[in-house]
Amino acid sequence: MKINKTGTSYEFVIEGAIGEGSTIFAQDVRDATRIVMNAEKMTYINSIGVKNWILWTVRIPKSCAFILTKAPLVMINQASTVVGFMPPSGQVESFNAPFVCPQCDTEKMVLLTAGKDYHYATADKPSRLNLPTINCAKCAVPLEPDFVEAKVFAFLDLKS
Ligand SMILES: [Zn+2]
Repeated sequence: MKINKTGTSYEFVIEGAIGEGSTIFAQDVRDATRIVMNAEKMTYINSIGVKNWILWTVRIPKSCAFILTKAPLVMINQASTVVGFMPPSGQVESFNAPFVCPQCDTEKMVLLTAGKDYHYATADKPSRLNLPTINCAKCAVPLEPDFVEAKVFAFLDLKS
């Protein structure tokens, strides 16, 4: 894992698995005003990792912006099922989701981005999806999400 710190703004680049003894949890973030978690190279999180993650994120100041970016689906599944996994101010900026061709089963990972492919609720609008249409390179038919949308996107409305 790498940490880039500029003043009170932190970027964590997570690599590999999050479990017992992940160095991320040793980082004091009580002065943080902005935290970006780049999870592009993250592979896995086990139950101890989830527990340590929550113990760590509760120490993040309430006013601190918390942004999860390029997350793998294993991370999003936690954000969508575990209350408190994302801090109250947390936002999933983007994550990689699997799509599959209904004809030839070709799989493709697609980076879905907040404000484009999905939207958090605002004062006047509920959360909503706007998934991209991507055609199979071989069959030219639209790929289908290889995940349960309501389940994966539960993080949009899961409040700590
Ligand atoms: Zn195809």
